Amino acid sequence: MRPKPQQILKAREMGVCPWCRYPTEGLTGEFCPECGNHLLSGLGPPDPGNRKRGRVGMLLALVLIVLVAVVQQTGGSGLAKGGGPGGAGGTGGEALPPDAQFEIMAKIFTRFQKMTGDKGLADQAVETLEQMASGEADRVRAAVLAGELKGVEAGRERLARVEKVLPEGSVLRGDIETVRGVYDGAAVEPGAVAGLKKRHGYFGELAASYGLPDTAPERARLIGGGMGLLILTVLVGAAVFLSFVAGVVVLVMAVVGVSSGKVRPAFVPPAPGGSLAIEVVALFAGGFLLLKGVLAVAEGVLAPGQVMWLALVAQWGLLAVFLWPRFVGARGGMRLLGWYRGEGVLKEVGCGVLGYLACVPLFLFGAAVSMVLTVIEAAVRQWMTGVKPPPPQNPLMEIVSGKMGPLMIVMVYLLASLWAPVVEETVFRGGMYRHLRSKWNVVVAAVFTALCFGVMHAYPLLMMGPVIALGFGFALLREWRGSLIASMTAHCVHNAVVLGLLLFAMRLLG
Ligand SMILES: [Zn+2]
Repeated sequence: MRPKPQQILKAREMGVCPWCRYPTEGLTGEFCPECGNHLLSGLGPPDPGNRKRGRVGMLLALVLIVLVAVVQQTGGSGLAKGGGPGGAGGTGGEALPPDAQFEIMAKIFTRFQKMTGDKGLADQAVETLEQMASGEADRVRAAVLAGELKGVEAGRERLARVEKVLPEGSVLRGDIETVRGVYDGAAVEPGAVAGLKKRHGYFGELAASYGLPDTAPERARLIGGGMGLLILTVLVGAAVFLSFVAGVVVLVMAVVGVSSGKVRPAFVPPAPGGSLAIEVVALFAGGFLLLKGVLAVAEGVLAPGQVMWLALVAQWGLLAVFLWPRFVGARGGMRLLGWYRGEGVLKEVGCGVLGYLACVPLFLFGAAVSMVLTVIEAAVRQWMTGVKPPPPQNPLMEIVSGKMGPLMIVMVYLLASLWAPVVEETVFRGGMYRHLRSKWNVVVAAVFTALCFGVMHAYPLLMMGPVIALGFGFALLREWRGSLIASMTAHCVHNAVVLGLLLFAMRLLG
């Protein structure tokens, strides 16, 4: 284990290596000839490679990560594009299906409103949807929701308002006529109803089911189940609260343990001068960028469903990056990146679970920061343009919104709960954090790694608080345990639970 500062001083007085007690009298170099560790600093031997490759690797890694971040922000390609940016629908002929977040909001509001019968909730639902609307098609949909929750008159009034600005021959004009027909109880042509459902998804079905008894299966499916949703919300809220409290306790224990010297980090930072760890990071970032490029090209050639499959499968190919240490002949290279058993797999997994609890308060803090920033941004935009901007899009919603087959769901789940923990932990906490720790202290290295980890995700910039906070927490786990098993476990627990809950909630919403 890494010697404490006093132990290093004492060993120096005694003329022995602070790590292995090998006599160092008369030696000149900085490193112990017996164990290879640094004699004065509590650092391990430098990683394989050299200074120059370290500098090039770092520069390359940063440039590539910035490029990936730019691609992610400009909506390059890949998973988040699965559903496509719908909703816009324009004023022209074609109306795209509603985007996932817009539809999900309507589904949740409708179920809670139908369960409670609350008028204020109906007003709030319609107002929110109108604010989120990104085109005339969405305004028709908000009108349908108004007709459902506030009464037919509220719906008719809004439909008339949208109709006024629609060009002659717009498909939406036909859809508005169809909705009116349903409201009137007239016999509506089945083809028109089918078109309504196809173009407006949930909203089309909701409009078509108007007038049926609430207990009719095709209508209950759309408006019922509020109770199940409420129970899930309460349970999740309670679980989050309990994990938060437990996490604060673990954090306090960690601070006390570290400051009293009872908890000692197992991670041994390498002495500066090596490069293997950062080479793997640069290689991964390059591979990821290449993958994005291939997918962008594939989008022009393949169907959207096929692109999504390609994205899901090709991402596993990035595991090839971990052959690099072997390729350059660095024996035990993956061990340096944290691939070893630590104090035993079970103990490390346990530490990962405990560590994840400590990450929960960090995660919630990150989420709170993101929320505040989003509100501030919306206020600034409204002040500058006079228009209230729609809420930011969460790409996760497009992915889990139920437009996937069961096999695709399994693939996405594996990617989140297996690929991400293994690959992202190895690259960021294994490679990048290790390299930075040869020069920087724990906090600076952890923050920097977390920022790089955050911007490589396809979330809107201001919504990255939670990911960055988790990245910071996982880096502390790497410092504590040395082995990556703990941070991989924490990462896996988080992704599996969050994605599992989202998918389950989507099932409830139908
Ligand atoms: Zn030694």
